[in-house]
Amino acid sequence: MPETSHTRFDTITEPLERRLADGLTRLAAVARQLDWQAAAAAGLSPTQADILRFVASRPQGARLTAAAAHSGVRKATASDAVAALERKALLRKQADVADGRAVALQATSRGQRVAGDWPASFRPVVQGLSGAEQELLLGLVIKMIRQLQQRELIAPQRTCVSCRYFRENVAPGTDTPHYCAFVGAPMAERHLRVDCAEHEPAA
Ligand code: SF4
Repeated sequence: MPETSHTRFDTITEPLERRLADGLTRLAAVARQLDWQAAAAAGLSPTQADILRFVASRPQGARLTAAAAHSGVRKATASDAVAALERKALLRKQADVADGRAVALQATSRGQRVAGDWPASFRPVVQGLSGAEQELLLGLVIKMIRQLQQRELIAPQRTCVSCRYFRENVAPGTDTPHYCAFVGAPMAERHLRVDCAEHEPAA
């Protein structure tokens, strides 16, 4: 009996995990390239752009070590990028509100403007998906971020699933199974946030 195509492809195809990883690597390369183009247009290096956007999304200020961890660079590299951003009047240093002896980075109003106008680098990647597909993907992305965080492979992220206000699946089987105790409202999967300014780490 001839081999079915399914069985044949099971033999000749690389493992699913490998193909998924390759596909995601390509998508990340597209997004990175768009980010670099946006950085160059703003007169910034990719690291400067990354740090500026990280700091600008934290109005209370951010520590240098957190900015370095977010960008995946060494503290010395982040420090050079911050110095360049200060020279460009996009960032400034000030006393940390939580600890007056520590220094926090804060975006200037010009820095806030540059960060606010930044194009979302992954937008062209997800634009072609339907709303339902985007919702499905959001759940998977959050799941991947959560497990990377649990394994301490990425810096802490401000996602709902690591937030002390998040009540997961408190109304199972409904359209809005989750609840945010900060906003005081039920949440659907599509409402989950990846980078929420009101996030506070769960204990
Ligand atoms: S405060 Fe933000 S991160 Fe926390 S549960 Fe609410 S929406 Fe999610």
